[in-house]
Amino acid sequence: MNKKLLHWVEIDSSALIHNIHQFRRLIGRKRKLLATVKANAYGHGILDVSKIALRAGTDWLGVHSLEEGLMLRKEGLSCPILVIGYVALEDLREAVLQDLRLTVYNFETIDRLAQICLELRKKVSLHVKIETGTYRQGIREENVLSFIKKVQESSELVIEGIFSHFANIEDTTDHPYARFQLENFKRIVQSLEENKINVPVKHTACTAAAILFPETYYDMVRVGIGMYGLWPSKETYLSCLLQQREPLHLRPVLSWKARIAQIKKVPQGAFIGYGCTYRTTRETVLAVLPIGYYDGYDRSLSNSSYVLVKGKRAPLRGRIAMDFIMVDITDIPGVELEDEVVLIGQDGDEVITADSLASLVGTINYEIVTRINPRIPRIVI
Ligand SMILES: *Cc1c(COP(=O)(O)O)cnc(C)c1O
Repeated sequence: MNKKLLHWVEIDSSALIHNIHQFRRLIGRKRKLLATVKANAYGHGILDVSKIALRAGTDWLGVHSLEEGLMLRKEGLSCPILVIGYVALEDLREAVLQDLRLTVYNFETIDRLAQICLELRKKVSLHVKIETGTYRQGIREENVLSFIKKVQESSELVIEGIFSHFANIEDTTDHPYARFQLENFKRIVQSLEENKINVPVKHTACTAAAILFPETYYDMVRVGIGMYGLWPSKETYLSCLLQQREPLHLRPVLSWKARIAQIKKVPQGAFIGYGCTYRTTRETVLAVLPIGYYDGYDRSLSNSSYVLVKGKRAPLRGRIAMDFIMVDITDIPGVELEDEVVLIGQDGDEVITADSLASLVGTINYEIVTRINPRIPRIVI
């Protein structure tokens, strides 16, 4: 049965393609472009985004988990897929069978992969994650050579890449730490060259690095947030202006919409929602929307954000519940049951951005979009 959607996420494929072309122009034809589609493509819907990104000229996909990589393979995607996160030792066989590229930094993983590949008579391409100062995943500089030599003991294990990730590039307009990390990476690359170890795909750049530091590009650039039309941060935008670069023109890809489930008049002095946190100061017309914190609409937006109804702002009244919110439409005439409401996106002259919700919540746009519940339908337009 095809049910009428009560809330959904719209994906603007032309915006996605436009953003990908912006990054392609920035990095040139020769380097590879990896589209980061972890976290359900930052909440945008991993399968559709992956397909569109590949059609728009993306070379590789980057996922976090084995599960995401296997799903893409099952759906018939045969492009290079790099699993950026950790894969459990007992699941490595599945990864090898499905030709997923793996991020490695544990000797245990290498030992297990060597056994598996020997048994299967199959090769696997590995990307060694290098610690340059983020202290998340990665092996430290003094262990890189011994790690790589260990990998090279098995002819089935192919070192295709080395990479690193910046800790402090989005949060500041002052980038000595990023430069320090890049210097560390450079030094490691140089020592590999001196040891005649050829690694064809070296990569360090995320969106902010791609925008600000061409010297971080190497052989591949891993773009996430920018592809979805969002800036990594205000500081990145400012840094771009400070460097006197023309800022990329990015178009937000995601909109989030819902239909009104009830319209009702409530008297002056009425308490709205759990905890009676809002009391009406006049006779009020409320629209009840079938969306709540379960859907990923952050509860801390209670009484503080608004939605768009007929292109006008309708403020939230009372607490956000698990599956419902209430908004004030007293000043918006002509609203009807099941009318569309915009939670994120544009309606007429008004726009609600992931950035504006993020600043109300005290978080980053990344969290706003990635937390939209994956069970909500994503509609590509
Ligand atoms: C998520 C991630 C990226 C993408 O970062 P953006 O800031 O979204 O561009 C790149 N590299 C690694 C290792 C990541 O985990």
